[in-house]
Amino acid sequence: MDSKIIAEVGAWVSEAQRIVALTGAGISTDSGIPDFRGPQGVWTRNPLAEKMSNIHCYLADAQVRKASWQNRLGSPAWSAQPNPGHLSLVELERAGKLHALITQNIDELHQIAGNSPERVIEVHGSMRRFMCWGCGMRGPMQAVLERVRAGEADPHCRTCGGILKSDTISFGQQLVPEVIDRAMQAAGQGDLFLAVGSSLQVYPIAGTVEVARAAGSRIVIVNAQPTPFDDLADAVLPGSISEVLPRICARPLSWKSAR
Ligand code: NAD
Repeated sequence: MDSKIIAEVGAWVSEAQRIVALTGAGISTDSGIPDFRGPQGVWTRNPLAEKMSNIHCYLADAQVRKASWQNRLGSPAWSAQPNPGHLSLVELERAGKLHALITQNIDELHQIAGNSPERVIEVHGSMRRFMCWGCGMRGPMQAVLERVRAGEADPHCRTCGGILKSDTISFGQQLVPEVIDRAMQAAGQGDLFLAVGSSLQVYPIAGTVEVARAAGSRIVIVNAQPTPFDDLADAVLPGSISEVLPRICARPLSWKSAR
């Protein structure tokens, strides 16, 4: 990657007082969790996997649910550790520069890396919790996975008998309006918007880039593949996230804390 552009973006990070980051599945691939649409993505390799992410298929078909529970059991996320990309965003928070971290990810690696939960806006929920489709009860996912390990192929809610799923937003499922509002509001409050590891194809969250631009924020996209917003960005850094983010977020002595 051209070191001139890295130095220029590094200077923008250094100057920025309120950075808003939007992260997608690409920030976690170097932690061993595949994305959906990258070259090694779950959907790229197995188009049938898309069915398991669709709420209508999930609710209608016990076979889809059984396959989903097996998938959850074997998810690489349970043993994944944050990588230097996640740690760079922790650095930004420690320096008092990170206004908000909007994430489409469901793996909680940002919080595990050390970002404060109140700064992380999880627009698609968390795979570390389950929810009941019938009564809305929520709890730790591991408790349900124990039941699957013990032989229940499609466990149901012990309170109401409803279908259980991970507490994530599946395709076809409604987003939580308050969470989306918070993300949109935060996107318009920064002076530098970092879009990291997202194909920026899923709305309304992809629209945070436009909200940030309209509010006068600088836009930097860090993603291996082109996105529909590359023309609108001030800089596009197409390298590996776990290499690029530490370089642009490296903390020179001149960094001033925003707080
Ligand atoms: P996506 O799969 O649509 O796009 C990921 C992008 O990241 C791709 O364009 C890919 O080229 C890029 N990328 C992957 N690894 C990279 C790397 N190391 N360096 C640079 N670029 C890299 O992901 P999305 O836009 O986040 O949308 C997918 C949806 O799927 C999300 O909304 C999320 O809820 C869910 N998802 C989450 C996880 C997770 O939590 N880790 C994993 C898979 C899918």
